[in-house]
This record gives sequence, structure tokens and C-alpha cells, in this order.
Amino acid sequence: MTPLALAHGARSALIPLLAGLLGLAIFLVDTLTPLDMAVAVLYVAVVMLLADVLTTRGILAVGGLCIVLTSISFLTVHNVRFEPEAVARACVAISAIIVATLLSLRNRRASDSLRDQAALLDLTHDAILVRDADDTILYWNRGAEELYGWTAAEAIGHRTAELLRTGFPLSPEAAIAELERDGRWEGELRHARKDGSRVIVASRWALRRDAQGRVQTIMETNNDITARKAAQDRLDKAQSELTHVTRMATLGQLTASIAHEVNQPLAAIVTNGEACLRWLRRPEPDVGEALASVERMIANGRRAGDVVARLRALSRRQSGRHERLDLNALVTESLALIERELARHKVTVTLDLTERLPAVAGDRVQLQQVVINLAINAAQAMEDTPRPRRLLLRSGIEAGLDGPVVRVSLTDSGSGVDDEGLTHLFEPFYTSKPDGMGLGLSISRSLIETHGGRIDATRNAERGMTFAIILPAVKEPRA
Ligand code: ADP
Repeated sequence: MTPLALAHGARSALIPLLAGLLGLAIFLVDTLTPLDMAVAVLYVAVVMLLADVLTTRGILAVGGLCIVLTSISFLTVHNVRFEPEAVARACVAISAIIVATLLSLRNRRASDSLRDQAALLDLTHDAILVRDADDTILYWNRGAEELYGWTAAEAIGHRTAELLRTGFPLSPEAAIAELERDGRWEGELRHARKDGSRVIVASRWALRRDAQGRVQTIMETNNDITARKAAQDRLDKAQSELTHVTRMATLGQLTASIAHEVNQPLAAIVTNGEACLRWLRRPEPDVGEALASVERMIANGRRAGDVVARLRALSRRQSGRHERLDLNALVTESLALIERELARHKVTVTLDLTERLPAVAGDRVQLQQVVINLAINAAQAMEDTPRPRRLLLRSGIEAGLDGPVVRVSLTDSGSGVDDEGLTHLFEPFYTSKPDGMGLGLSISRSLIETHGGRIDATRNAERGMTFAIILPAVKEPRA
């Protein structure tokens, strides 16, 4: 128990004793000594002493008792001889006791109602404390008891900053200066609890001055925001990690897609180079075939260069160069570029192209990339298929929502995909191949979408898959 609480407890026990002794002394003096004065007036002191510690009924009873004692003394001393002065003295004393009792009762009611109002502050969950200009705690509500662990008796009388080991965002001086200037201050504080743990509070201070303008009391309302702060910190951290991951993923995706798209022409160059050497190393070199291989090497080399240029444009967010394209021609060109690759996989290509296909607007290299991606995927999916490994390429016109669309489909007789695969095919980094990157389909899809089209994957009834590219036909001006 703090010295202050101890003093408070001792005082409440001492007062009734003191009042009792005083009352007895007055009674004895009034009854036994023939003093010609209104000694009984001193009962007022007894009533006033007890007014603080008694209930309303108690005060009334003490007032009544003092009047009875005064009357007894009067009757004892004066017997039946009622001298007018003595009667007057007794009347003055009794009136004084009555006035003191009534005043004490009024005072009592006023302080009871104040206490009731103060008790309302105990209903709030906020920690509320009132301190004086010296920072000494005068009031400490139940919310403060719950938040900090000290009872009101333990906290009252201590200095706030010392008890709570207050940590300020800037400095205590800055907060106090603002409080004195504006009459209020709010901010976040760090406080210590009784058990030593730290708590972060949103704190609001309000200042009350006396008539002379001097600081009288400061009311401080504190809300525990430790958990909210911790959650906010975690959120901030997660967000910054996410930003970092997204940046890395974008960078990683770009790098991976460059590698992926450049790999194909490079592989084609190597295959064609090897073929060229074989044609030349024959006992009778076949210069015609060798030349054809070299031309394919050059075409693939150019394509690799174009792919890099396109990707650089893409990373600079430049849109591709769009031109009118005949998809039938584009399909044939693309197949020519991977002829060797298809042959190596022993794939037989069948073409079913609709003649006089409407033109589409697009970037030649990008659309070639898509057809090549799909054809190579098909060839790889047929690796374990018994021959003939057939790849059917079809083109046709369909009615779309916004007018005619051109559809190019690639049907293979490969392994196909399961339900799980079908839902994830187009996601970046989804791959079932040991050395796959899982980017071909996701890049193809974004390329087709930037052309205003879409790409579909369906399972064939028999076996294998069909991938279809659907692009809007160029609207020809009416003749
Ligand atoms: P990668 O070829 O590097 O794996 P893709 O994005 O091109 O990346 O393909 C993703 C996955 O989709 C492949 O690993 C494969 O499992 C599946 N897939 C793509 N095309 C076919 C196809 N024609 N037949 C069966 N599965 C396919």
C-alpha cells in the first residue's frame, strides 16, 4: 500500500474516534461546569467532522444526538428554572447544530452526485486519468486499472511519467508546449504496465485552467492500440514484401520469356546447321539442300533478333507493329521455320486451310511465335504416341460477337492433359515437362489478347488436344 492510501485509511478510522471524544468533552463541560456561554455550539464541529465519513442518515442521527445532548445538559444544569439567557443560549446552540446538519446534508448530496458522475467514467473501457500541473495523478478510473494493472489507490499520488515510464513520439516538451498552446494534445504514447510489459496507446489530453489562467488539471484518455499497431506493422511489412515479390516476378518473367522465345530459333539454327554440314559432308555434297538449310538458319537468326526487339518494345510498353496478315500464309511460314523440329519428332503435318480467309491485323513475329509455340507443344505432347503422330492445322471463318473472326486450330494426338492441367495450362510457370519453363502458353495468351483475340484449349474426343487462336477479321470498307 502506498503512503497516500495508508494515510487515507487511517484518517477514516480516526475521525469518528476524534468526533466521539470531542462530543463527550463538550457534553461534560456543558453539563458539569457552570459556564455562562453556549458551549453546545461546539457540537457543530462534531457534525462537520463526521459529515465526510457518514451517510445521509448518519448525519441526521448525529445532528439529532447533539440536540438531545444539548437538551440533557440544559435540563441538568438549569433544572426547571428556565432563565431567559440560558434558554437563548440553548436555542442558539440548537439552531447552529440544525444549520450545520442541514449544510452537511446538502454538501453530502452534492458530493454524492459528483461521485456518481465520476463513477460514470468507470463505465468506459478507455483508461482515464486526471493529473495536476505537477503531473501527480488525482483520479484513475477502472479502465486505467484494467489497462495498466495498478489500482486507483496504488496510482493516485504518483507522477504519471514516472509510474507509466511514458515514451513520447517526439519529446515530452513538444507535447506539453502544444497542450499549453491549444488546450489539447493527442498522439501515440508508449507506457509500461505494472507487470513491466509495454503498451502503445492513442492518448488525448485536455487542459483545465483556473480563473487566473493557471494550469489546474489535465484529463488524459488512453486507448490501447498495441494489437492494432502490431497488425498494421505486419500489414505494412507484407505489403512491402509483396511489392518486392511482384517486382522480382515481373523481372523474372521478362527474363524467362526472353530466354524462352530466343531458345526456339537458336535450337532451329543448330538443327539446320547440323543438317547443312551433313549435306555438305556427303561423298557428293548436296549444295541445294545445304543452301536451303543455311537460308532457314538465316531466317531463324532474324526471328531471334526480331523476338528480342519485340520483347524490348514490350518491356518499354510499346505496342507491336500491326499489319494486315493472311493467317494461312502465317501458318505456313511458321511451320517452315520449325520444319526440322517437327521432322525430328516424326510429326506428320496435315493442313486444312480455308481459302480466301479475311485478313487480320497483327504483328507478324508475335503471331508466328504463338503458332510455333502451339505446334512445338503438340509435337512434344506426341513424343510417346505411336506413329503416325498427326498434327492437323485448320483455318476458318466464324461469326463473332463483333463481326467475323478467323480461327486457326492445331489438333494433336498427344498425351492430352488431365482436369487439373486444363485449369492451369495458361498460368505462368505451369509445366509438366522436366526442362519446361511453363511460359509458352501464358505468353501466347497475352500476345493473342493484345491482338483483341482469345486462345482456347479443349480435349479431343479421341486423344490429344486442340488449341485454337481466334482473332477478329479486319473490317473491309464496303465497295
Ligand atoms: P512448357 O512447354 O515450357 O511446359 P507451356 O506454357 O507451353 O510451357 O505449356 C504448359 C504445359 O501445358 C505443358 O508443360 C504441358 O503440360 C501442357 N501442354 C501444352 N500444350 C499441350 C498439348 N498440346 N498437349 C498436352 N499438354 C500440353
